[in-house]
Amino acid sequence: MRFETKNVHFQDKLETGEMSKTKPIYQTSAFSFKDLEDMENFFQGKKSYLYTRVGNPNTDDLGKGVADLEGAENGVASSSGISAILAGVLAVAKAGDHIVATEDLYGGTYQLMARELTDFGIDVSFVDFTKKEEIEGAIQSNTVLIYSESITNPSLRVENIDQMVELSKKYNLKTMIDNTFATPYLIRPHELGADLVVHSATKYIGGHSDLSAGVVTGNGALIKKVRSKIANLGSNLGPFDGWLGCRGLKTLSLRMERQCSNAQFLAESLTDHPNIKKVYYPTNVSERGNGAIVTIDLADHVDVHQFFRQLGWIKVVPTLAGVETSVTHPVGTSHRPVPEDLREKLGVSFSMVRISVGIEDKHDILEEFHKALK
Ligand SMILES: *Cc1c(COP(=O)(O)O)cnc(C)c1O
Repeated sequence: MRFETKNVHFQDKLETGEMSKTKPIYQTSAFSFKDLEDMENFFQGKKSYLYTRVGNPNTDDLGKGVADLEGAENGVASSSGISAILAGVLAVAKAGDHIVATEDLYGGTYQLMARELTDFGIDVSFVDFTKKEEIEGAIQSNTVLIYSESITNPSLRVENIDQMVELSKKYNLKTMIDNTFATPYLIRPHELGADLVVHSATKYIGGHSDLSAGVVTGNGALIKKVRSKIANLGSNLGPFDGWLGCRGLKTLSLRMERQCSNAQFLAESLTDHPNIKKVYYPTNVSERGNGAIVTIDLADHVDVHQFFRQLGWIKVVPTLAGVETSVTHPVGTSHRPVPEDLREKLGVSFSMVRISVGIEDKHDILEEFHKALK
């Protein structure tokens, strides 16, 4: 080898045969083959990897890790929660098809469905999922999918997945659930009959606010379709983010246990506070807890801007689910794409604050909110 060749191949010889305790990062865009027959093995299904856009061990681990927890046959990761939702939807719906979705969706999902899917020729009806007759009334001859979230945002309504599955069976549709807020620690929609479950792994699956990723889980045949959508649309996750997602996923139970109990404490402690009109916190979500998000609606006499300024170490962010407690202003961020009349109907007002409760000491968290409320 000449200098220039050696310069880029020096690492080839560093393979020591040591067994790494953690999965190495396959930070590669492609995989190499001994010869043409070896490469043919990939296309015959005898080898797993060819090109990272189509599949990579680190991103596959994240999909499989979440699938295991969800009780699904298989799972696949993608570049973001939104790209996971898009791939999941396109695996079951094509131009000319129709979707019935809940009207209290996460703003980004609303935007994807109301603006982008319609450009693909897929029609979406948004209805009130607390009313069975509204869901059933929206089903048309070309409906293929019923879509909702296990715990909605920011009012934290717990979806009646049994009812969705019942209607799906009756009309031969697929059910897809965004399980981002609940995580499989609290709710496992597949066990209730949901066909596809999707996550913004940017949130609790990753848990440390250091990556953007999504995961879809389901049966083997459906996930095969979702995986090919991700590959064909080019919305694959990078290997390092896959690795980070797996590292974060390992502490999901520990984080959720602490975050749910802190949230329960905060919700109970803030109820009846004179500067709060209403505390939103669900009950009976699971034996393990009721989630780690608490939403408060500040009283009319409170200066909302002043409240956000006085939060001390609690960060004001447009996201949720990290190990640190943070707050979001839904009107200005997650629900900005939602039309004003729909926002009003959903009770998403300027005085609404969504709290993502972290793993800190619960008394410190409460003190910080008491200070800001004062
Ligand atoms: C954040 C979020 C999404 C979108 O996920 P990204 O990772 O930001 O693309 C979808 N659904 C819910 C419930 C979310 O909170």
